[in-house]
Amino acid sequence: MKFLDLQKVNAVYATDLKRIAAEVIDSGWYLLGKYVKLFEEQLSFYLGCKYTVATGNGLDALRLILRAYIEMGVMQEGDEVIVPANTYIATILAITDNRLVPVFVEPDEQTLNLDFSLIENYVTNRTKAIMLVHLYGRCCWGEQVKVVARKYNLKIVEDNAQAMGAKSHICGLSGSYMTGALGDAAGNSFYPTKNLGALGDSGAVTTSDEELAMVVRALANYGSEKKYYNRYQGFNSRMDELQAAFLSLKLKYLDIENERRRVNAETYSILLQNAELILPQQAGEEHIWHQYIVRSSKRNQLQNWLQKQGVDTQIHYPLPPHLQECYPEYNHLSFPLTERLSQEILSLPISSYMGKEELTIIAEAINSFAE
Ligand SMILES: *Cc1c(COP(=O)(O)O)cnc(C)c1O
Repeated sequence: MKFLDLQKVNAVYATDLKRIAAEVIDSGWYLLGKYVKLFEEQLSFYLGCKYTVATGNGLDALRLILRAYIEMGVMQEGDEVIVPANTYIATILAITDNRLVPVFVEPDEQTLNLDFSLIENYVTNRTKAIMLVHLYGRCCWGEQVKVVARKYNLKIVEDNAQAMGAKSHICGLSGSYMTGALGDAAGNSFYPTKNLGALGDSGAVTTSDEELAMVVRALANYGSEKKYYNRYQGFNSRMDELQAAFLSLKLKYLDIENERRRVNAETYSILLQNAELILPQQAGEEHIWHQYIVRSSKRNQLQNWLQKQGVDTQIHYPLPPHLQECYPEYNHLSFPLTERLSQEILSLPISSYMGKEELTIIAEAINSFAE
């Protein structure tokens, strides 16, 4: 059983996707056109934010937000960004690419998201932002983070790459309850395996800050607001019309797909009966289950056992950013919980096309694991 079969994910939409592709091909206009504009409006409406700026991918969306804050004079090289230690490398790359300094903070062991009670200990006079990652699809938001951000005048940037469609029960800064519209700005990814996945690379910045949206839009288009006149030394990071047209279609079905994942997560929590395992907490609408993460002190044996039963699993992620070869300056740091989690976590298949039958097979394979 594959971990994730993208052919199956898109097969349900294949007829419409092919029709849409033909429409875009025949339109003769492939970038910065009406499909991107429409998708931007639809996403802003869905999230309840004022602006969406489509980008080439999710990493660029995050890089662009921080770069825009630098251009706006909100932060400068060498300033610090508080960030969870247990995130995907792209979160950290967006920070260091802008010559900002990531300040790693351990997660909460229950939610696996940033531990809010620790944030304030890490604030210095160089801290300019908190980067929240809604890891595995679980919303990371709370009064505590709002209070600390207000007290020290910090921007709250969300990495919403894994959580499109998740809802907080606590109101965001601009009145929305959706992840991607809780903080000051968010980077979103539509990489094909994400819950809202394109058929190639693409991403978006979402925000209700008009100036930020304008600067990001210019930076993503060579730093130009007016053709051939360049206000900033920008770069090129745009969403294709084709991807935007696909995403407009798939956005309509996102809530249904996320609901299927929620049902799958609940089914797992009923079916999984192995005392070796720590199961993830259920979290209602706060969680859209981009990944379903179980924990075991015998993770590697369990993964091998499942492989032998024909069940593919993955590890998100086996080595935390501070221990990566590309960051020798952080290799000496120690984050015991983050490091232990990277040894214990295992992602089970949980795609929206899966049903009870497949989950039962996987659960039986896991329940029969004994070592
Ligand atoms: C996927 C992902 C990104 C990057 O998105 P791309 O579109 O692949 O560049 C950033 N952060 C997190 C947490 C992700 O999962």
